[in-house]
Amino acid sequence: MYIGPYETKETCQQWQEEYQLPFEVVPDEDGTIFKQLSNGWVPYSILVGPDGKVILWESEFQEAGFSAAVEKIYEEPGEAEVEEAPVELALRAGRGWGARILILGGGAGGLVAAYHLRKKLPKGHKITILDREPNHLFQSSLLWHAVGMRRAEQIQRPLADLAKTGVEFINEPVVQIDVRRRQIRTSAQEIDFDFLIVALGAELAPQEVLGFEEMALNLYDVEGTAKINAALNTFSGGKVGVLVTDMPFKCPAAPYEAALLVDSFLRKKGVRERSEVHIFTPEHQPMPIAGPAMGESISKVLQKRNIQYHPLFTFEWISPGDRTIVPSSGEPHQVDLLLAVPPHRAPEVISYSGLIGSSGWMHVDPHTMETEYEGVYAIGDVNNIRLANGKNLPMAGVFAHYEAKVAAERIVAEIEGSKPEASFNGRGFCWLELGGGKAGFAAGNFYADPEPNVRLYPPLRPWHWSKVLFERWWLRHWF
Ligand SMILES: Cc1cc2nc3c(=O)[nH]c(=O)nc-3n(C[C@H](O)[C@H](O)[C@H](O)COP(=O)(O)OP(=O)(O)OC[C@H]3O[C@@H](n4cnc5c(N)ncnc54)[C@H](O)[C@@H]3O)c2cc1C
Repeated sequence: MYIGPYETKETCQQWQEEYQLPFEVVPDEDGTIFKQLSNGWVPYSILVGPDGKVILWESEFQEAGFSAAVEKIYEEPGEAEVEEAPVELALRAGRGWGARILILGGGAGGLVAAYHLRKKLPKGHKITILDREPNHLFQSSLLWHAVGMRRAEQIQRPLADLAKTGVEFINEPVVQIDVRRRQIRTSAQEIDFDFLIVALGAELAPQEVLGFEEMALNLYDVEGTAKINAALNTFSGGKVGVLVTDMPFKCPAAPYEAALLVDSFLRKKGVRERSEVHIFTPEHQPMPIAGPAMGESISKVLQKRNIQYHPLFTFEWISPGDRTIVPSSGEPHQVDLLLAVPPHRAPEVISYSGLIGSSGWMHVDPHTMETEYEGVYAIGDVNNIRLANGKNLPMAGVFAHYEAKVAAERIVAEIEGSKPEASFNGRGFCWLELGGGKAGFAAGNFYADPEPNVRLYPPLRPWHWSKVLFERWWLRHWF
């Protein structure tokens, strides 16, 4: 057993004694094992059952999922298998004419799924999106919003506009999902379904970080990016920190893009020379999932732009009194302006409804997006998909998009009585916005074995413009 890259022989000894471990505990002093196995600072959580078999093998630690897996060990045999017969009947009733398809979440995945279902199914089948928010938010543009390149209303669309396309929208929070009774409950009503697509994304949990509310500005929601923009407009120099509080987080490129856009903003404002820009992250390199070449190339850009990079930053809490961010080991850092990526969790309704997997997220077939419940699919950030290298498919809109199309096409095939063929192949792409009208681009196959195969294209102006065009297309196409 080895423990974290910051441990010493002495702390290992203490561990061994404290937990009376019968085997050797050694420090991974140069971080070799950590770099090979981790997405963040917790390389693997392994749970061994009473019979000595490995029950759980995850590359991050999510307490809720871990607890669910532990509970399963003590579950009475047969406890989980209740009321299977009514499921079959309800599902059969949905075949043919008049199926009720519910899509939970009107984010990236939900929108795409609704579009493809509506395009392919006759009007007799009812397609409904439920979302607690009235608007769809194109999240990639939050970073432009933060630096004043977009207004909030330019990056959102009312979900009620979907009515024009023949998709019903219900603006209510989903509070329970009962897959056995094939029914969901919102704050106001119960709705039966024949097919369900769960596209609820990842929940942001800034409240889990001590001091976040008092000092950090949330880089991942529209209220936060409005505050960042206001703060940058009055900023006259000082130290700006971009902090990743926890792993996993959506869009692995976003904190790097944020730092580069802030750098450009400060240069344009003429205060860059009086300022420092820092990135603090638990990752050992930028975008570790895309491989060392990608990490090296982003690191070079950061260096060139004089952005100071603090990898393996084991963030613990924020101390607003002296404006510092505090790691579990190493030096705290004082910052004047703090832009932060909050912890991400599976939506509460997933935990309440018992749909959470041992990873702390939903588990699906990586090609079909089917859950273990017939006619129930899950797509996008709410899922945990394990790759050949043991790491997880990153949370990104591009994957939510392709997965949504697959789920929709499979449901259409089921309704039409043909064999579902659509399959997600793990391909994806992303832009890396550099500021100053330039962007990089990367594309590849994340399902490649043994490692994702991602090709990196050098920064150019046309990549930035293709990102702008994609944003415009996205905000028109689905509505
Ligand atoms: C700053 C930033 C930059 C990004 N840049 C990129 C990028 O360049 N490229 C890329 O591919 N991805 C990017 N992403 C990631 C991308 O936006 C997400 O991965 C994508 O939106 C996930 O889609 P989803 O459908 O799974 O979830 P979401 O789009 O998050 O949608 C989930 C929806 O569910 C709703 N919801 C949640 N809980 C409930 C409930 N209980 N009841 C009702 N409704 C509920 C939410 O309101 C939300 O509308 C970025 C994200 C951020 C924050």
